[in-house]
Amino acid sequence: MADKVSPGMQQYLDIKANYPDAFLLFRMGDFYELFYEDAVNAAQILELTLTSRNKNAEQPIPMAGVPYHAVSGPIETLVNMGYKVAIADQIEDPKEAVGIVKRAVTQVITPGTAVDITATVDNNFLVAIDKSGSDWGLAYMDLSTGEFKVTTISELASLLSEISGLRAKEIVVGYELLPNERQILERQMQLLISEVQELPEVVDTLEEQVASKLKAYVKQTQLRDLSHIQEPEHYEIKDYLQMDFASKSSLELTANSREGKKAGSLYGLMDKTKTAMGTRMLKAWIERPLIKRTAIEGRLDAVTAMLGSFMERADLIEALKGVYDLERLASRVSFGKALPVDLIQLSRSLGNLPAIRELLTAIDPEIFARNTQALDDLPELRKLIDSAISEEGGRTISEGGIIKDGFNDQLDKYREASSKGTNWIAELEVEERARTGISNLRIDFNRKDGYYFHVTASNLTQVPEHFFRKATLKNSERFGSERLSEIEEIMLEAREESSKLEYQLFLAVRKETEGYISRLQALAKTVAEVDCLQSLASLAESAGYVRPQFTTEQAVAIEEGRHPVVESVLGLQDYVPNTIELPEGSDIQLITGPNMSGKSTYMRQFALLVIMAQMGSYLPAESAVLPVFDAIFTRIGASDNLVSGESTFMVEMSEANRAIQHASSKSLIIFDELGRGTATYDGMALAQAIIEYIHDKIGAKTLFATHYHELTALNESLEHLSNVHVATLEKDGEVTFLHKITEGPADKSYGIHVGKIAGLPDSLLERADLILQELEGQEPVSRATEADQQLSLFNLGNNESELIKKLKAMDVNNMTAREAMNSLWDLKDLV
Ligand code: ADP
Repeated sequence: MADKVSPGMQQYLDIKANYPDAFLLFRMGDFYELFYEDAVNAAQILELTLTSRNKNAEQPIPMAGVPYHAVSGPIETLVNMGYKVAIADQIEDPKEAVGIVKRAVTQVITPGTAVDITATVDNNFLVAIDKSGSDWGLAYMDLSTGEFKVTTISELASLLSEISGLRAKEIVVGYELLPNERQILERQMQLLISEVQELPEVVDTLEEQVASKLKAYVKQTQLRDLSHIQEPEHYEIKDYLQMDFASKSSLELTANSREGKKAGSLYGLMDKTKTAMGTRMLKAWIERPLIKRTAIEGRLDAVTAMLGSFMERADLIEALKGVYDLERLASRVSFGKALPVDLIQLSRSLGNLPAIRELLTAIDPEIFARNTQALDDLPELRKLIDSAISEEGGRTISEGGIIKDGFNDQLDKYREASSKGTNWIAELEVEERARTGISNLRIDFNRKDGYYFHVTASNLTQVPEHFFRKATLKNSERFGSERLSEIEEIMLEAREESSKLEYQLFLAVRKETEGYISRLQALAKTVAEVDCLQSLASLAESAGYVRPQFTTEQAVAIEEGRHPVVESVLGLQDYVPNTIELPEGSDIQLITGPNMSGKSTYMRQFALLVIMAQMGSYLPAESAVLPVFDAIFTRIGASDNLVSGESTFMVEMSEANRAIQHASSKSLIIFDELGRGTATYDGMALAQAIIEYIHDKIGAKTLFATHYHELTALNESLEHLSNVHVATLEKDGEVTFLHKITEGPADKSYGIHVGKIAGLPDSLLERADLILQELEGQEPVSRATEADQQLSLFNLGNNESELIKKLKAMDVNNMTAREAMNSLWDLKDLV
């Protein structure tokens, strides 16, 4: 830059130096201007005209601008694309400025902190991680609702799964990332990585540390009041039914797998909530089902009570509809962004609470005792808003019309003055009309001329002495008079003063409302919970669900269960219900049957019913008895690994490994066609070994769909395994899938049969038959002995056998023949 920099540009450069990673929008007059690289890039992204400053200089500065009143669209575009935007405003009145107007950054908008531009009810979580030893601290916050949670996680896979589940766009990282960690977060998970500039004070625990770093980052970007941010709440991923992100997505819990939309997901089906906070909470309930039986039964009792009170529930739904998004309203109050209409909505929402409280008491005073106690309708706040804010109060706060009559004496006086003025004007009009004899003389008002007498051209001769000309138009003239000016002055002053006063009064009411923020947030949680329970009851009723029973045995008996989402698509008539029975001691079901017969639907149905039951929901079944599961592991479908882009087979094996490493006898495992991603024998061998391992070492309830027909013979050696298949019906050469799960293995020659129907030549089919018979002669490999198992693939380090330890310890190179012999005998003794 050879040119001399102007003081204005110097100010720009100074500010920009502090925000190198953000687009800097620099307020100049009626525009927000961008310069240099920012201007070039923004012009391209936002389709702005690229101009330049100092056009005649040697090196003109690229420049692009956005009008100040239309800045929100461009900001939204940039932030949605994953960029940060820093807003530099004029922080003193240009009229009073000496020299250059002072400017400073007033807010940095980032993908994880964009609260003013999110139109959806969904949460927008900003995540932070930090590390200490081998543990990660994870904190997350939704700036728009004030929710703030923190936990510790000791495994990278769990950490990544938790972050994915939060669907964050931005992550604040408090430690030096390893290259592979950075790669995963940035490239594969598409997260914007941010850092805290000024580190907060050192604190004791990892969780405090990560929470305070997150808070510091939010302060650094928001530069505004954050009193609505709640205290960080500790949680444990182990307190909930564990499911990794891959399972949640393949089960389509909150988004369908084709478009990632809510419709077609379990959430889409189950959501009968009426409030925004209820909608958010229901989603959280689906993603985090409970594992404490008393808590689950508590929710179910509430749902049952609601189902028994049809009329009250109908009224409850109506009352809930009148409750606005209290969490977002509270945060707008805290940010100083609440408008008159927001306060009106707040008061209306509070107005619905007494009815909600009464209805809950009418439904069941004991079951809803905790809720009714928490439903504090904040009468003082309501009274304040109702007495102060006019129902017509809209979205502006500087033009008056916000504050009600009777709220403030001074304001009432101004208003009286202005309304008196209106009367005086009417009187003056009548008076002057009589005095001048101009029958169509009238007093009008416009911004430019103020109040004036309107006199048409034909009456100009009758204009009296005491009128003075204000303006001349084509067919008329405008006049003033001393008296008219007098009235006008009183009125304008009253109006101006009253607008100013209204603005002050509004700010005061808003300030007072701020004191209620934490109570509003607590209220919002209670309303959300009631709304979720109501939603579960409405669903149970409309879809004809039953209440699940829980057992302490490891036994499952779901009679005539249905996949809730598939059923809702197909309709009740076309859906074939299936019973799932896994009594104590029967753990593994091996499911065979042709493609498209319904294996996958059956297995998903099981997982979804477990999730629903542990959320506290009724179930699509005739009856259901279930244990409380601690985790669900799945390997379903060909969904690619979002996280690391590994090969399908590698993904399959990693997920199988995850299940095997972490599942307990209280877990549910669902494997759909495991082993498909590799050569037949490899795949079959691994599938069999995995089944044996689960059977012998874990004892988790497992559904295993396979096309390796040979595996069905395993029921002879594995006592906790049973075969089921999907029934098909053949009639007049047509095969119908009955979608019915039936005992025993599928008919082996099924595939050849289909080939026949498809019209393959007879000779070919005969040949296939022959080959099949030959293959059938092969026995499956008999099950492993204990010693084999110890050497097997899934020998997981810590339980290394004596045998191997001894073998490893042998120094074969330095052994005499005798020592070698003795060692061999030693080893043999161990077997
Ligand atoms: P598979 O896993 O055996 O290939 P799917 O479970 O994907 O088969 O089912 C294939 C299709 O069959 C589904 O899309 C669904 O339309 C239908 N289907 C599956 N189960 C049922 C059922 N119980 N009742 C009615 N239709 C079903």
